[in-house]
Amino acid sequence: MTTLPRLVAFDLDDTLAASKSPLDPRMAELMVSLLGVVDVCVISGGQISQFHMQLIDNLDTVSEDILSRLHLMPTCGTQYYRHAEGSWTQIYAEYLTDDEKTDALAAVEASARSLGYWESDTWGPILEDRGSQITFSALGQAAPVAAKAAWDPTGEKKNTLREAVQVLLPELEVRSGGSTSVDITRRGIDKAYGMLKLAALTGVPLDDMLFVGDRLDENGNDYPVKALGVECVAVEGWEDTAAFLETLIPQLTDAAARP
Ligand SMILES: [Mg+2]
Repeated sequence: MTTLPRLVAFDLDDTLAASKSPLDPRMAELMVSLLGVVDVCVISGGQISQFHMQLIDNLDTVSEDILSRLHLMPTCGTQYYRHAEGSWTQIYAEYLTDDEKTDALAAVEASARSLGYWESDTWGPILEDRGSQITFSALGQAAPVAAKAAWDPTGEKKNTLREAVQVLLPELEVRSGGSTSVDITRRGIDKAYGMLKLAALTGVPLDDMLFVGDRLDENGNDYPVKALGVECVAVEGWEDTAAFLETLIPQLTDAAARP
């Protein structure tokens, strides 16, 4: 980018940390340095518990001043958290209504059963109410990566289920999530939605933001941010992100030191 960003936003899984894993100490240190010079947002399809485990529990000795510059957007920005007076506070959450949840849960279970995709042997519950999102995970939330990869290697089951559920829920949006998961949300909820919310909340225009993600390819869950026109940096894992930050942070620090 020609000018330096006023805010840097990151995807979480495979961008800041390995999938469902805590931040590496090297990355934790880089995040703290970055927060010393610029506002930072982390946006993910996951819920706040995942942000705690992967990100913020690993920043627990960091000053209030630093943490106040961190913006957390779980479930693609349908929830927003800031740090104030020693704790993380939910600023807002846009939940599905009880009727929408009931319809979504019923539709996805009925479709999975009739397609023969409702497994009896799973790692945890198949259905999860994330407040603003209902998630179907064919083998349960805690299924090992290898089992998930073997369940639907071509993605055909997931796509068939997605289409069947979408027909039953015309008012909602049904999307492919992770390797065995299908997510149901209000229409138009993706990371672009979250970034637009972020611009409105912070007053930082999209043009002054930079986004870093591992799935900026056209089928990836970070692609909507690129399509929105935000300046993006594509990475393949957190080590890439760390290397990028090691060049970005000194530039930001120099710029901040200039009168
Ligand atoms: Mg990712």
